[in-house]
Parts: sequence; C-alpha cells; structure tokens
Amino acid sequence: MRAVRPIIALALLLAAQANAAFAQQAADTVAPESRSAVSAKQAVHASRQMVVAANPIAAQAGLDALRAGGSAADAVVAVQTVLGLVEPQSSGLGGGAFLTWYDAKSGTVTTFDGRETAPAAATPALFLGADGKPLGFFDAVVGGRSVGVPGVPRLLETVHAKYGRLGWAELMDPAIKLAEGGFAVSPRLHAMITQDVGRLDTQPATRAYFFDALGAPVTAGAVVRNPDYAASLRTIAEGGADAFYRGPIADKIVAAVQSHPTNPGSLSLDDLANYQVKERPAACAPYRGLSVCGMGPPSSGALTIGQILGMVEPFDIATLGPEDPESWRIVGDATRLAFADRERYIADSDFVNIPKGLLNADYLKARSALIRRPTALPDDAVAAGEPSWDKAELGGAEPRIDGVAFDMPATTHFTIVDADGNVAAMTSSVENAFGSRQMAGGFILNNQLTDFSFAPEKDGAAVANRVEPGKRPRSSMAPTIVLKDGKPFYALGSPGGSSIIPYVATTLIALIDWKLDMQAAISMPHMLNRFGTFELEAGTTAENLAGDLEALGYKIKIGDQNSGLHGVAIMPDGLTGGADPRREGIALGD
Ligand code: GLU
Repeated sequence: MRAVRPIIALALLLAAQANAAFAQQAADTVAPESRSAVSAKQAVHASRQMVVAANPIAAQAGLDALRAGGSAADAVVAVQTVLGLVEPQSSGLGGGAFLTWYDAKSGTVTTFDGRETAPAAATPALFLGADGKPLGFFDAVVGGRSVGVPGVPRLLETVHAKYGRLGWAELMDPAIKLAEGGFAVSPRLHAMITQDVGRLDTQPATRAYFFDALGAPVTAGAVVRNPDYAASLRTIAEGGADAFYRGPIADKIVAAVQSHPTNPGSLSLDDLANYQVKERPAACAPYRGLSVCGMGPPSSGALTIGQILGMVEPFDIATLGPEDPESWRIVGDATRLAFADRERYIADSDFVNIPKGLLNADYLKARSALIRRPTALPDDAVAAGEPSWDKAELGGAEPRIDGVAFDMPATTHFTIVDADGNVAAMTSSVENAFGSRQMAGGFILNNQLTDFSFAPEKDGAAVANRVEPGKRPRSSMAPTIVLKDGKPFYALGSPGGSSIIPYVATTLIALIDWKLDMQAAISMPHMLNRFGTFELEAGTTAENLAGDLEALGYKIKIGDQNSGLHGVAIMPDGLTGGADPRREGIALGD
C-alpha cells in the first residue's frame, strides 16, 4: 500500500525556502508500507562511538562490542555475524563484502576486498545456455551455478587480526546466543520470504527454514532458531576462518552447489581452500577540498562516484539547490557518462587492465564540458570516453539488458565509528535477496557470480567483466569514507545494485553542497539517472520534478527505491548518524 503523497509536501516545495524546507520534507517522507520501513527517522547524536546498521539487533551487538572495549573491527565481526542471522536475505558467511577502513593510529585509509571469486572450473560461457544465448537472470541465479567462493569469513578474520582487541571467539557469542535462543523475524524479512515463494522454497534446506510445515512463510514476529548457524559459528569461533574454508562446513557448501538437481555449479573444495582476501589501496577522488575514498576494482563504486563528483564539481549546484531540475540534469548526465565508462572499462583489475586516467582531472573536466548545455544529453552522445592508458586494452562495452529493472532489496551496509576514531564502512552482500536460494551450514550461499557479464563478448571484442576462473565479478558496492584535512568527516554506503553509485553520490552532494545533515541527506527523495531514464522515487517530492525533467528531454520512471544508506558524520562536536527510512536500520551510539 502506498502512502498518500502529502499535500504538505507540495506546499513545502512551493514555499521552497531553499534547502532547509527540502531537508524537512526529506525527513518527513513517508515510506510505503511495502518497504516495511519506519515512516521517518531522526538523526542520532553521540559523542564517542556509533554503529549504524540495517537491523536494530545487529546494531546493538556492534554497540555492545564497542562498550566492552572493542574497536570498530571487533564491532564489524559482531554486526556481520548477527546480520547473517537476522537479515539473511542480504548478507552473511556465504557472501562477500568490501570494507573501507580508517585507521586512527596511522591516520590512513585502506580497503579490504572480500569479494567472491569464480571457481577454477568456470569459463566465460558460464551464463550462456545451450543455444549460446545468455540465460534468463533467475535461471542463472537459482541453484549452484551462480555461487562464488564466499569472502566474508576470511575478511572478518583478517580485519579482526589486524585491528581487533576483543577475543575472536567471544565476538561470535551474540550471534550464537540469538541463533540458539531464537530471534524475532522482522517485517522486512517476512515480506522478502513472501515475495520469493516459488524460488526460496525449491531447496529442502531453505524450505525447512523459511517456511512452516504447511509451506507458509514464517510470519513477522515469529521466533526462529537456527541451530545449524550456531554450530557453524562455534566451529569458526574455535578454528578461525580456516574452519570455514576447509572441513565439514566446506564439504556442506560444495555438496549444496554441486548436487543441485537442475542447475549445479563447479565450486570445489580447492576453490574454497585457495580463497584470499585482498587489502587494496583506497581509491580516492577530490571533491570541493575533501577526499572521497572507497573501494576500487573489482568494485566500480569509488571510481564511478569519483567520476560523477569530478564532473559535477565545475557547476555551482550548491547555489542551484536540490529543488532545481538543473541540479538533477547535471548530476544525472554526469552519472550517465560515468556509467558509460564503467560499462566499458571497469572489472577485476587483477585480470583486466583498467585505464589509469579514469579520475584524471583534465579528463573529467573534458567529460564535464559535455554536460554544459541546456537540455538532457541525447542518448547517442553518452558513450565511454578515452581516458589515458598505461597499456592499451580496448574491451567491448558491457551488453545492456534493456527493459529489465531488477528490484534490489538485498545487500546491507553498516558504518561504525569507535572511541579511538577508527572508522569502518562495510557493504556486505549475498547479491540477490537470499542469494542462490541455497543454504549450507545455516547460512545462505551467494549468487554473486551473476554480477559478471553474461555475454563474454560484444561486437567481437571481449567484455572486461566476462567470467574467468578465479576472477571477482564487478561490483557497485561503495563503502565510502570522506576525509577533510586527512581526517574522517563522513562515512557511509548503501545496498541497491548499480543504483548504489547514484545513491551514495547524491547523498554526498546533499551533505557537501546542500549542507543537509546525515539523516536528511539519506532521507532525501531519490532521483537517479544511470542509463537515460530519470528514476524518481514514488510517493515523494521527487515526483514533482517529473514535468520539468521531461521538458529537458528525459524519459521518466516513477517507482520505489531500495536504498539502505547508513552513515555517520564525524564533526568536531560529535557524531551524527542517519539510517535509511526505506529499510529497518537504526543508528545507536554513546
Ligand atoms: N551484487 C551487487 C554488487 O556487488 C550488490 C547487490 C545489491 O546491492 O543489491 O554491486
């Protein structure tokens, strides 16, 4: 059921006292009940430490870890292991994640790549059918074929070993207790299960866990236990991540993947045993005197956001403000141009030579000049540019699957700031809601391999993001830490598939140019343009700009938006947290 679009919102827009009115409307936005989100959320203030996560039980586990003297890295372990239980549709031990980390001691930002890898036996034809044509999306997703080697357990262990203070085993306790004692199914989890009837109930393990004996989805508020998950966590608590990648848990994962009756995968014990987390330098882009840092390849997140901001920077959108369609034309067309480069060039940099000049200032200035015009860029003017190269490697652009807009209700982002000033921004994912719809050891197995291009070539040229053995599929995840004078200023991120990029970019613009607080920036109605059509968030004042944007030459689509932005502003006078009203998250702090 859609919330009635408030007449007050229109009045507010007309009254239009620049950004403040818009911010107020943003904070008052009522989310449709179908999102199971609370209607409006208030900014949360704290002085020392904060956790913002997509589920209150998980956020509390993180705050408890901080209160016990733990660092942000300890809280990462507590939050992630609880999320894997209470928000299994989004992330967990069977998935992958990217962490952007600010280390207060050294004053540096770094990133950890816990992305899934393709099995050694995978080929570029993985997602082609017998007829040589790309498989239908869910035909590829459901089963074993889409399952990549999970990265989360090794990522948690790596970060804990480097930056943790509390004992590894004790950090598993909150999740083990909840898994054994039971947790209340959230309204959103119930809604996700209900929407997935026909897929999630096709494997015995998922059917037994997410449905009752008569086949009905577990209801919201029902107390559910997951002893298999508790047992897996106990094994990992004792044996570390090695006990996940080798031994009985690994055996269960491989059995589930390889023995799927209609759509098996090749993931093997060797693939699991060989998995590695990679620490990579943060990809940072300048914006209005700040440094916007995040996850480089295999994620396209930081590079694409950096390109958007670089193209927007020459324009005075602070003065234009968030209510002027001109602001959205500039941001929207910058996003389209950045997406054209993303499609052509960005993939796992361990396999593909990525142009070094994607964030080059002169290159972005030239790209930005393309949008110095009164109306929308015509579709045929939106093409990848020619950034500078170290080594020439011209790939084909990723084939677009036009007309298919997948709802992206899964994946999760959490942001943690500890009392020492360490900051963790982590986006974690099983990809689609409930991943491959396969479960092993009480957790969902990802379908992250469907983030590869299904078609390995376009116009005779190899696609950068084609499947290759051991390769990591290109992501859009964008855990972001913004530095001011070298110190963390904002930390945030979101789920949402490739919409993550405009969700995070526009939130940064709202924070930096329009001076909204973290909550108002997150609640701001979404207006996105990745591929030419302006996507306006239904039930919000974004709809009011439809006519103006149409007059500028854009196609318009009005619909729900599935962001899950969770961020913290780190100011001299304390921390301000914001949680996305479109999901069930919460900011907690001291
Ligand atoms: N698999 C997506 C990615 O890595 C995230 C999916 C989502 O946000 O729902 O970009």
